[in-house]
Amino acid sequence: MMSWLKKTRLLRLLPDSVVLTRMPRRGNTLYLTFDDGPDPRYTPALLDLLDLHRVQATFFLIGRQAELHPQLVERIIAEGHRIGNHSYSHPRFNGLSLDHKMAEIERTDQVLAGFDGIRHHAIRPPSGAFSWALTFHLARHRRKLAYWSYDSLDYQRLPADDLVEMMRKKPPSAGDILLMHDDSDCCIQVLAALLPDWQASGFSFAALPD
Ligand SMILES: [Zn+2]
Repeated sequence: MMSWLKKTRLLRLLPDSVVLTRMPRRGNTLYLTFDDGPDPRYTPALLDLLDLHRVQATFFLIGRQAELHPQLVERIIAEGHRIGNHSYSHPRFNGLSLDHKMAEIERTDQVLAGFDGIRHHAIRPPSGAFSWALTFHLARHRRKLAYWSYDSLDYQRLPADDLVEMMRKKPPSAGDILLMHDDSDCCIQVLAALLPDWQASGFSFAALPD
């Protein structure tokens, strides 16, 4: 299987309107993204932390979770963040037919549109799975895939202190799209430590454009 690094190099050859992997380097903006929520155990504390630092971000929601916790989705939107499509049930996309993948995406389109009225949100496949068939199918329908350029590794269940140290050694740079997850408190601990540093060093934060 192709490494993610090689894949992203290939993906960067495609226009941003089809596959987004990073934002322009101009300015000094970082783009935080959170997958796998909303989660009533962790998303509220994460939203509190983002609000404290006046940081806007993008939440790639699992459709089934959004249906279960509508008040959290409403809060995400009310606080100025953007939402994206992370499938309905977070299956392993690599083993699914194109039809099955699209059914997962379209069911979540309907759930998310019920919250903000937007018919089509950007799509981040579960685990960042990639296939040319899905990419071309989505491109033909003017749908956008959104990957990332900086992996926080917060899903590896390492101690948060270790991640903070790793991210301080190899910090993100302007235009990076950061991959994080709000289905554990790891991202909260990491960001509580790093957001003040990043802001002091001049970074600002924004949600991904629709
Ligand atoms: Zn995920």
